[in-house]
Amino acid sequence: MISEDILYDCIIVDNGPAGLTAGPYCARVKMNTLLLEKGTIKGQIAIIDLVENYPGFPGGISGKESSLRFKELAERFGLKIYRKKDTQTGELSTLEVEDISTYIDLEPATGFLKGFVKMDDKGYIITNERMGTSVEGVFACGSCRSGSTGQAAVAVGKGCIAALEAEKYLQENF
Ligand SMILES: Cc1cc2nc3c(=O)[nH]c(=O)nc-3n(C[C@H](O)[C@H](O)[C@H](O)COP(=O)(O)OP(=O)(O)OC[C@H]3O[C@@H](n4cnc5c(N)ncnc54)[C@H](O)[C@@H]3O)c2cc1C
Repeated sequence: MISEDILYDCIIVDNGPAGLTAGPYCARVKMNTLLLEKGTIKGQIAIIDLVENYPGFPGGISGKESSLRFKELAERFGLKIYRKKDTQTGELSTLEVEDISTYIDLEPATGFLKGFVKMDDKGYIITNERMGTSVEGVFACGSCRSGSTGQAAVAVGKGCIAALEAEKYLQENF
């Protein structure tokens, strides 16, 4: 659960492969990390019958099974996922956030970040090779990133880079 008065080292907005890779990396090095998820579906991958071209699974793996495994790993490292606690009433609720998912042939719903981070003309977030955005301390990875190839293995790799860079950023600046 989350409450208003906790300062997090890192907040991840994505419960797909990129976010669920970045999350355990951050949690493992004891960064106080919160992962925000929307609904119960764990990314595009969860709706795919068979995820192909994913290392370690020569025969493919069902999207549902794969997303459960991502979550299992995150939980193993104690990643905090999603619930908000009102410090006055003690009530738990979810955070209201806009959907940033990207689905095939649709533009990313990154509208709530418009004017905050630089995007390309289709609304994908522009990053450097270290996943840094135009705003210091804000990193983007996965399918919302400009130039993303739209594959789970790539999302996982970029999620890893973003987590390591976030850790480095905190060490160097705080
Ligand atoms: C039909 C289809 C088939 C595919 N087949 C393959 C395949 O065979 N092999 C392969 O490697 N890849 C495949 N992919 C691509 C793969 O699924 C994606 O590359 C991967 O899921 C991207 O991961 P991601 O973490 O960047 O984001 P996503 O999977 O897009 O997940 C984003 C998640 O964040 C949540 N979210 C969105 N906005 C917010 C918010 N504001 N707050 C909190 N949570 C939010 C969404 O609900 C969603 O669960 C396929 C994709 C599709 C659509």
